[in-house]
Amino acid sequence: MNKSIEEIKLIDNKEELFNQVIDECKRSQSTLNSFVTIMDKYECFNKEGVLSGVPYSLKDNFSTSGILTTGSSNILRDYVPVFDSTVYKKLKEAGAVLVGKTVMDELAMGGSGLTGHTGAVKNPWNLEHIPGGSSAGSAVSVATGMVPFSIGSDTGDSVRKPASFCGVVGYKPTYGRVSRFGLFPFASSLDHVGVFARNVKDVAIVTDVIKGRDDFDMTTLSNDNIKYADVLDKDVSAKKLFYIKEIVESAKTEESKEVIRVFNETLDKLRSKGVVVQEVSFDKKLLECLYPIYFIISCAESTSNNSNLTGFIFGSRESGNSPEEVMFNTRSKGFGEMIKRRFVIGSYVLERENQEKLFLNAKRARRMIVEKMNELFKEYDGFVLPTSGGVAPKTIPNHEADRLDDEYLLLENHLLIGNFGGYPSITLPMGMVNDMPVGITLTCPQKEDAMCLNIANSIESVTGLKDLVCEVK
Ligand code: GLN
Repeated sequence: MNKSIEEIKLIDNKEELFNQVIDECKRSQSTLNSFVTIMDKYECFNKEGVLSGVPYSLKDNFSTSGILTTGSSNILRDYVPVFDSTVYKKLKEAGAVLVGKTVMDELAMGGSGLTGHTGAVKNPWNLEHIPGGSSAGSAVSVATGMVPFSIGSDTGDSVRKPASFCGVVGYKPTYGRVSRFGLFPFASSLDHVGVFARNVKDVAIVTDVIKGRDDFDMTTLSNDNIKYADVLDKDVSAKKLFYIKEIVESAKTEESKEVIRVFNETLDKLRSKGVVVQEVSFDKKLLECLYPIYFIISCAESTSNNSNLTGFIFGSRESGNSPEEVMFNTRSKGFGEMIKRRFVIGSYVLERENQEKLFLNAKRARRMIVEKMNELFKEYDGFVLPTSGGVAPKTIPNHEADRLDDEYLLLENHLLIGNFGGYPSITLPMGMVNDMPVGITLTCPQKEDAMCLNIANSIESVTGLKDLVCEVK
């Protein structure tokens, strides 16, 4: 379909459009597999709303009353919630029309798009490559032009990484800007709701709809009363950005050096708009701790958050001769290998004798990184880096999907800074390498969502890659 939100709003017959989109989604399933559920009924709850009749997709970890919500896990393969997540409710109230629930890495853990219980999602730019995850189907449904926007979640990079691998814009607003009520919790101190679209304007329009304080989520911020879509064109010439030297210099392979070349080109174009971009040095030891810190904290929190998946309250239940046996069988069969491994690590981290050394130290190290960043933000308006050290890799076997690899550690894992600090962070396409898209990520101080989108809009204007779309024949 390949239309922006504003273009869609001009179309008279939205139901006809919906039916075309549904056909496209169904047709794409055999090649891309981006949906767990495709809707069959046009339901617009507000004909006057800002998103009236605009089709969109939603990651399958957002509760939708009466609609299957699986988290792409076998353990929840039949789960139909009885309530709506706040994000879904707000989109309904704005008149947006749900076309489908998208495939993700199981329970939002992972970054490949390969581990959902309904099978692997494919990258439309090259079907042999992964789309990235965990919000894989959301990224793909936008990249192929099927829908103008999609909602995902980002705990470490799960909106921004797949956005970059699929050539779309992916935005994670400030922690607490958007309510997480009804989003399956993964790691509560790091979980964010995020938005995918093909341009910054659409991301801003959608964020304006879903943001705001929510009595059902006590971590939400009070409203900033700024309409982001209205401030995108503000002058950026006085803005000051930095990039981290140690991360850029960690590029070693041909491909990652090519990514850095495209990145430097983009920075030069941005400088020509009057934006100041400077190199800053950051403690490399601390940077190398990013992934271990993330892993310890997220495994601990996810083990605790998912302890309700016992087979008694939600989802599928296996048989057994005692409650313990039922639980054991349900969890053994219901979770994939990677999830079980993470729960074992999470339980280990949370054991009384390990808590101080592992869990509390990881939290202290996270704070050190955030404090150093906040120091830099006193002088700078944000920082930019390549989203990844390369294009989407080729399919990797499942057992490797969670491996600790330090070859590209810094270029692959720096997006975590955005989650540690709860900073607004946005990825947008900056160029093509080996016929695949690569992205640039801008991260700004907490609560500066408006400024982040404003600067992102000017980055978009220099890349020439607005509304990039990849139609699969
Ligand atoms: N890729 C990271 C992981 O494996 C982040 C996932 C996410 O942001 N949900 O956990």
